[in-house]
Amino acid sequence: MQGACVLLLLGLWLQLSLGLIPVEEEDPAFWNRQAAQALDVAKKLQPIQTAAKNVILFLGDGMGVSTVTATRILKGQMAGKPGPETPLAMDQFPYLALSKTYNVDRQVPDSAGTATAYLCGVKGNYRTIGVSAAARYNQCNTTRGNEVTSVMNRAKKAGKSVGVVTTTRVQHASPAGAYAHTVNRNWYSDADLSSDAQRNGCQDIAKQLVYNMDIDVILGGGRKYMFPEGTPDPEYPNDVNQNGVRKDKQNLVQEWQAKHQGAQYVWNRTALLQAASDSNVTHLMGLFEPADMKYNVQQDHTKDPTLEEMTEAALQVLSRNPQGFYLFVEGGRIDHGHHDSKAYMALTEAVMFDNAIAKANELTSELDTLILVTADHSHVFSFGGYTLRGTSIFGLAPSKASDSKSYTSILYGNGPGYTLRGGSRPDVNDSTSEDPSYRQQAAVPLASETHGGEDVAVFARGPQAHLMHGVQEETFVAHLMAFAGCVEPYTDCNLPDPAGVSDAVHLAASPPSLALLAGAMLLLLAPTLY
Ligand SMILES: [Zn+2]
Repeated sequence: MQGACVLLLLGLWLQLSLGLIPVEEEDPAFWNRQAAQALDVAKKLQPIQTAAKNVILFLGDGMGVSTVTATRILKGQMAGKPGPETPLAMDQFPYLALSKTYNVDRQVPDSAGTATAYLCGVKGNYRTIGVSAAARYNQCNTTRGNEVTSVMNRAKKAGKSVGVVTTTRVQHASPAGAYAHTVNRNWYSDADLSSDAQRNGCQDIAKQLVYNMDIDVILGGGRKYMFPEGTPDPEYPNDVNQNGVRKDKQNLVQEWQAKHQGAQYVWNRTALLQAASDSNVTHLMGLFEPADMKYNVQQDHTKDPTLEEMTEAALQVLSRNPQGFYLFVEGGRIDHGHHDSKAYMALTEAVMFDNAIAKANELTSELDTLILVTADHSHVFSFGGYTLRGTSIFGLAPSKASDSKSYTSILYGNGPGYTLRGGSRPDVNDSTSEDPSYRQQAAVPLASETHGGEDVAVFARGPQAHLMHGVQEETFVAHLMAFAGCVEPYTDCNLPDPAGVSDAVHLAASPPSLALLAGAMLLLLAPTLY
């Protein structure tokens, strides 16, 4: 796969290194016609004033606006287009806002404090999750009494099915915001707890995943935090570094399965696809790596599901509930690619994230499903250099820098891409800059590139999506989800029921008539089932 991507990109480079200007764009009529069409669409836009039966939040971890634009160019070029003109799936949502991402104690935030904001609706401190800013980092005894509740938890209480899907470990900061309360985001398993935390009864995130609330679908990485210390991993039985790590000897997967009849645990793609299409499966946990899942370009696609496949599997299971569902989907490794200053990894992950959004958009109706797409924070990632239209996003600026050397369009403000030695930086050419493992240069040396502090975008479609407007605090994301779904504290939302179109997700494999029939049967069965 990686080889194929390299070849594809090389082909793009050869084809596009001289730039590509679509000839019709030289005619003013092209732009006038296109804008008139866009104006027509805008004039016809009608807010959907009902409640949302279903709510899906897509979170691109670290997906700042510059990352969105670069992803658009990459995805457009992968489809054979010049790039920047070709809309992403998220671009096609009708409503947009900016989200202010700062933590209570940091101007530039992390993924833990921000998860508290967009999932629970309350801003918290850096490195803490699911607790208000009255709780202090790493001080276990400041947890109790300062817990704040996620919209997912409230949706479950209101009778909806709920799910968490991520490409990171499911105990990672972003998904943990949906179910956990912790003053330290790194307390993945009990082996990570400080002695102070253990003494004061703070629980690790993996344990909270199983015991804080009933989550119907859990998909991502993170096997090793669930199994007793020394338990061999099913995929890497000979690698002791991938063994279970729990000191308390608890088998959390087994304990989770014992709680629900119809609960199934899977750890590879084949078993996932099977379980998702089995209507006897009411609860589904899929953990596909010992820790984070692999970057998509490094995956073995026969063993590891893509984010798009996990999203579809989650929708299959969750949409069986006639009262609707709440789903959190994270493209979690966009952030990791950036931290490592490997833009190829970040942007290919972001393309996969957009593919998952396209799939959810296709499988649900905007008449009853609110979809929000946002990021928790940005990165110090930029692209510039007056590159020619249609040239590779990973390519070079057409002119030399003041040191007579080439430079890449993409640069990081700081990070491991710092290469200045003895006052000079290395030159770069097209073949090095197109390498998937190439680190773009940075101005300041750091082992890990940092987050950026500017606003991120929120894209919205579906019931109440029109309320996503203007410049908002990041907490607004959670409040809009709660209001549209009529869950606490908005149970008196006074919104009419949605015009029920997608009673069941329009399953891709079945013809529309069958999907409709299934939907009608679910409606008939509803009073007896729930
Ligand atoms: Zn990060």
